[in-house]
Amino acid sequence: MAHLERVDPQIAQAIKGEIDRQRYGLELIPSENFASPAVLEALGSVFTNKYSEGYPHRRYYGGNQFVDVAEDLAIERAKELFGAEHVNVQPYSGSPANLAVYFALLNFGDKIMGMNLAHGGHLTHGHPVNFSGKSYTIVQYGVTKETERIDYEEVRRIALQERPRLILSGATAYPREIDFEAFHQIAQEVEAISMADIAHIAGLVVGGVHPSPFPFTDVVTTTTHKTLRGPRGAMIMCKEKFAKDIDRAVFPGMQGGPHDHVNAAKAVAFQEALQPEFKEYAQQIVKNAKALADELLSRGFRLVSGGTDNHLILVDLSNKGITGKQAEEALDKAGITCNKNMIPFDPRTPFNPSGIRIGTPALTTRGMKEGEMKLVGKFIAEVIENFGQEEVYKKVKREVRELCESFPLYADL
Ligand SMILES: *Cc1c(COP(=O)(O)O)cnc(C)c1O
Repeated sequence: MAHLERVDPQIAQAIKGEIDRQRYGLELIPSENFASPAVLEALGSVFTNKYSEGYPHRRYYGGNQFVDVAEDLAIERAKELFGAEHVNVQPYSGSPANLAVYFALLNFGDKIMGMNLAHGGHLTHGHPVNFSGKSYTIVQYGVTKETERIDYEEVRRIALQERPRLILSGATAYPREIDFEAFHQIAQEVEAISMADIAHIAGLVVGGVHPSPFPFTDVVTTTTHKTLRGPRGAMIMCKEKFAKDIDRAVFPGMQGGPHDHVNAAKAVAFQEALQPEFKEYAQQIVKNAKALADELLSRGFRLVSGGTDNHLILVDLSNKGITGKQAEEALDKAGITCNKNMIPFDPRTPFNPSGIRIGTPALTTRGMKEGEMKLVGKFIAEVIENFGQEEVYKKVKREVRELCESFPLYADL
């Protein structure tokens, strides 16, 4: 970072601090990951200088011969990865991607059926404070109290009663497999568009460790920076019959010039995800999550739905006499990063909920396996069971650093 250090030492310092924080801490936020140095190179490239409104070979600006190469590759690779008919890689992030789909296929006020945020859905699935909730009529489904899982009969009952225009599946804090086929069949029965938001689990779908929403689902959105391990961004995949409307909604409907440096980095990440090692990576994410869940269960933690099928675990801390906010702060002091999270039917508030959400995608990228997950579970238990004891946090922090040092990250940055 020779240039940066000279021009802006404060930002250079902040970046160095962040590299070390990532290197020497345990990253357990399930929506985070470590993009490869190759992805970072594309992201930091001169493509950031270019304007290229429009789509490959149909641009409103000159000089796009190299941008077209990158965007074409991103599209072709995404199609191959997921078996998608049409792909738009231009959405800036997951939230604008979802809003672009609604904008493309619905009229304001139309009815969307999505998962309740308090049960694992995303803000853009119709939360009242979000653009989605303010602009469309929202009906929500959740999990049942007994199983803490989606009950597809209940989803069908609500759909038949409400007749939504679009039924959205996908979640941000749901530790179990989602039956995209069941959702699609319900959508067909009520003549709704089926949409799946696989932001969290896209990498698992690629790896074959979560059922795919393809080829049947009408529209599928995903972020590219979570389990897919690319740059911060998103894409929309859809059946050919929706392609024109989707493309028009993204540009010129909602966005201006695409972020060409990000789209080039998406192409790189997709190339990485097409390699056989990525499948092994995805499989290991799930094995690690199960190992971590088992360790926490054996230490008396209550896990929402009793465990996990995917990359994430929702821990209900009610029986430990500590809130999610307290746990998040204590773990942070020990070098363990996670996020506080509502649990289904949470009697507490979103800012101070009963649970924490943890996940294994980032640690798995570092090369950690089941043995390390047992250790991580032990660290978490030690911090939470000794809440308020700063010496314990310090001791765990030293052990965390030791573990991290044996799994080097960004060695050549
Ligand atoms: C993360 C996420 C998004 C939003 O992505 P941003 O890039 O943060 O806007 C949308 N949907 C789901 C299910 C997510 O988990």
